[in-house]
Amino acid sequence: MKEIINSARVRFPALSRNESFARTLTAGFLMHLEVTPSQLADIKTVVSEAVTNAIVHGYRGEEDKKGEVLLELCFYRNRVLLIRVTDHGRGIENVEKAMEPFYTTDREGERSGMGLPIIRAFCDSVRLVSRPGFTRITMKKKL
Ligand code: ATP
Ligand code: MG
Repeated sequence: MKEIINSARVRFPALSRNESFARTLTAGFLMHLEVTPSQLADIKTVVSEAVTNAIVHGYRGEEDKKGEVLLELCFYRNRVLLIRVTDHGRGIENVEKAMEPFYTTDREGERSGMGLPIIRAFCDSVRLVSRPGFTRITMKKKL
């Protein structure tokens, strides 16, 4: 295991306003590291997409007011950033399908099914594990 330089764990309720909180928090975590503007933009995007999924799909918006999202950040000596988002919501029926471009279970036509494909494109590795009551996405990006 690579040496950890810095890490953070933050738990917050599944409210849509916490998407921007998670983005800003991540940007703050990276502040003292040498990160290019383009890397920073990618990282903020993937955090947003993963946290939004937890809130809107995991907990179906604000329907489940007790829903909590866990955001974990870890920066390693080899300059790998790990971002992990966990929810205890509905879970994903078919993880492989969920990763496909344009696959969405949204019926209102507001979502395009591109969140997970974007995450995959912007990160060096992505692991998505889900079952009813638990979804965790672990993303790694070399900086
Ligand atoms: P977009 O991200 O473009 O707004 P989307 O959220 O539907 O649309 P993805 O982020 O790619 O697209 O997710 C694909 C599908 O995977 C979702 O429609 C949803 O069914 C499922 N999904 C993703 N994350 C979760 C989660 N945390 N809990 C439950 N289901 C999820
Ligand atoms: Mg999404």
